[in-house]
Amino acid sequence: MCPADRPWNRRDFLRHSSSCALHLGLMASASPLLARTRWGRQERFPVVAREPWGRLERVADGVWALVSTPLEDNTTLCNGGIVAGRAGVLVVEGFGSAKGAEWMAAQARTLTGRAPTHVVVTHYHGDHTGGLSDVTGRGGPELLVTARTRELVLERNRNTSEAMFEDARLIDRRRPTEVDLGGRSVIVVPRRGHTDSDVSLEVTDPSVVFCGDLVWNRMFPNYVDAAPSRLSMAVRLIRERGASTYVPGHGPLADSTDLARYIDLLDDVEGAAKRAFDAGLSAEEAGSRYRVPTSLGEWTLFNPRYFERAIGAWMTELDRGLDR
Ligand SMILES: [Zn+2]
Repeated sequence: MCPADRPWNRRDFLRHSSSCALHLGLMASASPLLARTRWGRQERFPVVAREPWGRLERVADGVWALVSTPLEDNTTLCNGGIVAGRAGVLVVEGFGSAKGAEWMAAQARTLTGRAPTHVVVTHYHGDHTGGLSDVTGRGGPELLVTARTRELVLERNRNTSEAMFEDARLIDRRRPTEVDLGGRSVIVVPRRGHTDSDVSLEVTDPSVVFCGDLVWNRMFPNYVDAAPSRLSMAVRLIRERGASTYVPGHGPLADSTDLARYIDLLDDVEGAAKRAFDAGLSAEEAGSRYRVPTSLGEWTLFNPRYFERAIGAWMTELDRGLDR
């Protein structure tokens, strides 16, 4: 996401951090200060750690969620979490930088008294995988990833190597995988829509879903690799889980009302794209005209081209439909 046009890995991030920081600064200033402050403070649960790059909220006994605040600091960039059982500790995501991934591993040790035993990444984008090579590998936690996500990391993220995945466990892309942590299981559910291979992670009692970038809350989603109708379907299926808490890929923690508003946003973008497609507008024209309905509240833009990109993704899909 830097939010720029392509995902990047840690080295890319370090190389481009100044331009990204500038970019984020620009976008931040385009949002009303009050809305940013409100967004940054939307805490749902007790905060057990707070840094410039994010806060760790204790969602339940043995379940913590990181809400990154990338408008302030890019260390972790994406949201993620920690789930602990009697025998294992799972970290959700590889984060945007080595420092971010190492900080989360240190939080896991502090909160559970144990080093992470598993790491699951929800998809290949650099803001979710940039710190991976520094926390996995020999003696480190087991990395669980779909074969397609591994392929996409190696193909599209710069400065990656097969060695990153040497000890990785490839998870099924069609059926859910259970990770037994001892007295608590995490179900890794393969999905598609934000990219060609996404996963959500589901915990019961209490019901918490880590949605990856299939779900964004109060931040407008990035459609750079999206298959829009699949995305829409995946989000509806996630909402039908009826969970009490949803951890979005970006933005504050969500409940089912937030998910409903997000679905309304996706539907509004779909409607705008279809009208623009029928009127023969370009994605650029339609994107520059698009505004989020005020009834859906404030949605921060990471990148000024996100509207155009979302509408363009729909237009590509509509074009394909016509070809059939
Ligand atoms: Zn992301």
